Amino acid sequence: MPKTMIEPFRIKSVEPIKMTTREQRGKLLEEAKLNVFKLRAEDVLLDWLTDSGTGAMSSAQWAAIMLGDESYAGARSFFRLEAVIQDITGMAHFIPTHQGRAAEKVLFTAVCKKGDLVPNNCHFDTTRANLEFNGVEAVDLVIPEGLQPSLVYPFKGNIDLGRVEDTLKQHADRIPFGMITVTNNTGGGQPVSMANIRAYSQLLKKFGKPFIMDVCRFAENAMFIKMREDGYQNKTIKEICQELFSYADGAMMSAKKDGMVNIGGFIVLRSDKWLDSVREILILTEGFPTYGGLAGRDLEALAVGLVEGLDEDYLRYRLRTAEYLGEKLEAAGIGFVKPTGGHAVYIDAKTVLPDMPLDQYPAWSLCNALYLEGGIRGVEIGSVMFGKHLEDGTETYHSMELVRLAFPRRMYTQSHFDFAAEAIAEVKIKAHLVRGVRITKQSRYLRHFTAEFRWA
Ligand SMILES: *Cc1c(COP(=O)(O)O)cnc(C)c1O
Repeated sequence: MPKTMIEPFRIKSVEPIKMTTREQRGKLLEEAKLNVFKLRAEDVLLDWLTDSGTGAMSSAQWAAIMLGDESYAGARSFFRLEAVIQDITGMAHFIPTHQGRAAEKVLFTAVCKKGDLVPNNCHFDTTRANLEFNGVEAVDLVIPEGLQPSLVYPFKGNIDLGRVEDTLKQHADRIPFGMITVTNNTGGGQPVSMANIRAYSQLLKKFGKPFIMDVCRFAENAMFIKMREDGYQNKTIKEICQELFSYADGAMMSAKKDGMVNIGGFIVLRSDKWLDSVREILILTEGFPTYGGLAGRDLEALAVGLVEGLDEDYLRYRLRTAEYLGEKLEAAGIGFVKPTGGHAVYIDAKTVLPDMPLDQYPAWSLCNALYLEGGIRGVEIGSVMFGKHLEDGTETYHSMELVRLAFPRRMYTQSHFDFAAEAIAEVKIKAHLVRGVRITKQSRYLRHFTAEFRWA
């Protein structure tokens, strides 16, 4: 067989994307106050803002949509999805929610109390926010390798077991459960090894604590295990997932990721200990336990999507797309978080704009430059997102200036990635022309979504 890895699907339905001129993009960006969040999506050529709920559904999923049973209680679609989820996770109880953060809100409200502490490799931002909203301390304990962007290490999402043990010893009475996020989104979409998950689960068991997984990208994580961890080369992705879930007492998922759907989420629980209190909150905030904030057709699409997401050819291609763009960036002398993760590439803006002072926000400026050059929309993960504007008018800066390009599932082809690589390399060649920015307007929380800028 030829070596080129092709998209393992053909295209049945197309959505045109709009070409714009550089001059038009310049005007559009200025109208958006130099903030790509404020652009209209139709003015973007390659929209790599997020992989969440943005992917393409298959013909089988669209067909399943017509089978949706929209009964309020006890719908056939619920039982179909329940059987699929029980098969993959081995857990008895399935609780649908409308997306991932709703699953977090329902579970944390039912199980956590003020003053609690929850360890994780890295809490995703909504996970952290939902814990903190309940007065719970969210502690990130990823291994030190996971915090070094240019270090190549196979499982940079692993949790630091030594620090977990210390935390369990010191705060046992405050910890309602331990968590792990697969793959570690906040840490660059990096995988967690099966050995790490197994050892973590044994540690939690020793201290009598349940183990809850955040499994948004469990299939991508399983593929990394198959490719990188000894003993898994000859196992199917489903077998690897089943082993992974066997160590947990429960899990939460945003189905907008590896569920291959545009909306959806769920909680699964092994025992019925928390079930009544979880269902109570679910009915209060999401809906009846057999639909939980989703339509019957959404449940059907997810039942098909979860199975399609385990397909090895698909996953191999999926992980290869990020790696492929990484190789092209490497050749152009552009730094990025290594190795590339499952769903995104994180460009190190300081390697493209080494001379730009931090107070002109290099990663934000690179984001703008990528839009101007190629109509590409990424997201800044740097000092606009994580820096702070202090009372005395001074600014704090983030340790890294990254631009994340996150890839919707089954949506962009190899030529889109070639195009993007050319555009990014061109921005580096013309780096001296890239203009920095200054903030003209900002809010106190999550300022990156709404901040306004002018050219520096
Ligand atoms: C997306 C995501 C969530 C939240 O899910 P939503 O569907 O966006 O509410 C939680 N955890 C992780 C790791 C995620 O990537």
